Amino acid sequence: MSKITTLPLGFANALLVRDKGAILVDTGINANKKIYEELFRELDFNPRNINLIVVTHGHADHFANANELKEITGAPVLCHKEAVYALQTAGNSAIVPRNELGKSVFEIIKKNLPRSTKKVNPDIIVDSSFDLHPYGVAGKVVYTPGHTDCSLSIILESGDAIVGDMLVPSFFTGEPCVAYFANNEKALFASLQMVLQQASIFYGGHGGPFTKAEVLDLL
Ligand SMILES: [Zn+2]
Repeated sequence: MSKITTLPLGFANALLVRDKGAILVDTGINANKKIYEELFRELDFNPRNINLIVVTHGHADHFANANELKEITGAPVLCHKEAVYALQTAGNSAIVPRNELGKSVFEIIKKNLPRSTKKVNPDIIVDSSFDLHPYGVAGKVVYTPGHTDCSLSIILESGDAIVGDMLVPSFFTGEPCVAYFANNEKALFASLQMVLQQASIFYGGHGGPFTKAEVLDLL
């Protein structure tokens, strides 16, 4: 059965999924090779056991330092086809405020958007579902557009899901929220309904885990 460990790395989390094999989901942002190696040592975990690095979407706080992680783990980097440009240019996919909270947060972060320090070439590019069993993890990657047009989520047979920024703590209060940035609100809620039908615990790129009851309360 998969076990998820949240690695808090500054503003964003990396999530280590351990099963028969292991994968890493996102990279965190305030990190470097030494910090990653120390974290893995504290967990008594050999990073060479990571078989795949999944980038949930093309916002830099989710793929910063992917090059360092590729070096440490030897694992390929997977992203959605619409995220390739952001990764290859060390840029950001569109950040579109969805509501008043999103507008307020964007005013604060717009002058200092998270940046990846290095470009990264993804090794595996997907446009829909991707089976994780060959990587030793009982689960799949699914396409969950809405927050961005390149958003991926991971649904595990354990009932856990990793949903990138589809669910986030409020920037101001820490309370669970549906993404306050979205380039397609209708798609965002459709994606959320889809993962709700397939999982009961939801890990995010900045907070959580959130329970199904907490998420249903938001809808
Ligand atoms: Zn994002």
